[in-house]
Amino acid sequence: MEFKELQVSLEQKGYQVSEFENKEEAARYLNEQIDGKSVGFGGSVTLDEMGLYESLGTHNKVWWHWKGADGLTVPEIHKEAAVAQIYLSSVNGIAKTGEIVNIDGTGNRVASTIYGHEKVYFVVGENKIANTLEGAMERARNIAAPLNARRLNRKTPCAVKADHCYDCKSPERICKAASIFWGKPNSQEFEVVLIHEKLGY
Ligand code: SF4
Repeated sequence: MEFKELQVSLEQKGYQVSEFENKEEAARYLNEQIDGKSVGFGGSVTLDEMGLYESLGTHNKVWWHWKGADGLTVPEIHKEAAVAQIYLSSVNGIAKTGEIVNIDGTGNRVASTIYGHEKVYFVVGENKIANTLEGAMERARNIAAPLNARRLNRKTPCAVKADHCYDCKSPERICKAASIFWGKPNSQEFEVVLIHEKLGY
């Protein structure tokens, strides 16, 4: 997939952009860029597939509620991640026009990507790209969220077939808050790491 249109859109909105052929190259780059820092992770199959918690953890202080931390509860890990110098997340959808969409159940990832760090990295496989903002939102709601509900074994209608969102009223609903980045927020650096592979949901 050609990233040129997306790259131009993102740069016009104030993001740094980098591009890699595969997740190994991208992980190597991130390990070069992030060294001696505290690093928070949002929930992300992409980041997990790249082994970033493990590799960055050899030379940074890493916080990820998926991985645990001795003696700390999940909410305590969320708080440490929220004030880390660096924050990593993927996206549920990204438009070629440059808008970035995420949906959260707990809200830690949505909240922590918007504010509070030196720099945020969005790590994005090519399967997350849509033509428009509407397409990115559609992808987030009807592709990413049902697949994540299935992965989490939630008792929601979407988890059975993972075919689309049913806008459920289930107590196990994973879609509680969403973020749309129309442009780069002012207070911190952002970089979008684009990868020519299918990663995550
Ligand atoms: S709102 Fe409910 S049905 Fe829709 S994707 Fe989220 S969990 Fe699934």
